[in-house]
Amino acid sequence: MIFSLSTPEHIQPEKVNHPLLEEKQVRMEVLRLDRIHPLVSGNKWFKLRYYAEKAQHTSKKMIVTFGGAWSNHILATAAFCRENGLSAVGLIRGERSITLSPTLQDALDLGMELQFLSREAYRRKQLPADIELLIQQKEAILVPEGGFGMEGRQGASTIPGLISAPPFEDIFCAVGTGTTMAGLIHSAVEASTIHGIVVLKGYASMEKDILSLLPDQGDLGRHVLHHEDHWGGYARWDIELIRFMNDWYKDTGIPTDIIYTGKLFYAVMKRVRENHFPPGRKILVVHSGGLQGNRSLEKGALIF
Ligand SMILES: *Cc1c(COP(=O)(O)O)cnc(C)c1O
Repeated sequence: MIFSLSTPEHIQPEKVNHPLLEEKQVRMEVLRLDRIHPLVSGNKWFKLRYYAEKAQHTSKKMIVTFGGAWSNHILATAAFCRENGLSAVGLIRGERSITLSPTLQDALDLGMELQFLSREAYRRKQLPADIELLIQQKEAILVPEGGFGMEGRQGASTIPGLISAPPFEDIFCAVGTGTTMAGLIHSAVEASTIHGIVVLKGYASMEKDILSLLPDQGDLGRHVLHHEDHWGGYARWDIELIRFMNDWYKDTGIPTDIIYTGKLFYAVMKRVRENHFPPGRKILVVHSGGLQGNRSLEKGALIF
């Protein structure tokens, strides 16, 4: 491995203490991937590692990828490339605004080149001519939006390697593209059911997307996609979610983000409250990071 970022073996499941968990006798542990790196946060580190390795093996010097103005993936790619001597291009959804979001400003400061695509071009993932040329000339590799793809899945498959504790009966993660969940399904122990909390509304082909990343799995591990915990859609939220995130931080010391992990922990605690888990159940929640996205909120909305 040529990367300066080595596998974060110091990250291990930690017990979560909360009055409701105690009352219901549910043992929850959390895998704090948010602690891996300040910028290459959470699952993004795992999803990028094999794309970067592929770039290095094929002597490509540049990674090109897609994302929105608050994208964790864009910032993670910028930081990852910076630390590993690769150049990075971010193809950003929508017109350039006069002031960049803090996320894009950080990416720029890390040396990422930003190009803005119209929403229509972005939807079609239409590459600007200069980028198309770099890819044809084999100067750059293209990482799909959110790291979705076999390399991303392969990287996410190394997440369960951090879990040395006895098996968890249920493992929960947030689902955007489904790459992380596919990795967990691929390599978590058989005794675990993998639950995905989908943060997009009405994304009916998610199961199909996930299965497409698991082509040679004869006997797939047990997994369930939950489609009712999106709060109205991607990046939608209301004051109740903010209140939950603040209370959750007060009670457990775990910070969460507004797009993915706030909804994830809310969904799990809702199931605890509604007695979905029998007493003695052992569950693991994968904290996939993303805290930088909270900068889209008004200052002071969160207490952390
Ligand atoms: C990108 C992201 C996800 C979504 O992961 P997928 O592998 O695309 O499903 C979940 N949580 C956080 C914090 C993220 O930044």
